Amino acid sequence: MLSHLRAILILVSSVSLLLLGSCEQQKPAATAPAAATPAVQARYECPMGCAGSQSNKPGKCPVCEMELVKKS
Ligand SMILES: [Zn+2]
Repeated sequence: MLSHLRAILILVSSVSLLLLGSCEQQKPAATAPAAATPAVQARYECPMGCAGSQSNKPGKCPVCEMELVKKS
């Protein structure tokens, strides 16, 4: 009789441990990355691909003085 009770206790405790474990896994992902990207993307670039020629407005390449081209 006593051993039967003990078996039930062990079963109950293991089940509650499992439940606790599943609760632990259901934590909300608070650190989810935001969908919006605040950084301004460069849309104009030197046709020669010079370093530092990227700009968000039309102009001339600071390296080779070529007209910047719009990137698609
Ligand atoms: Zn250039």
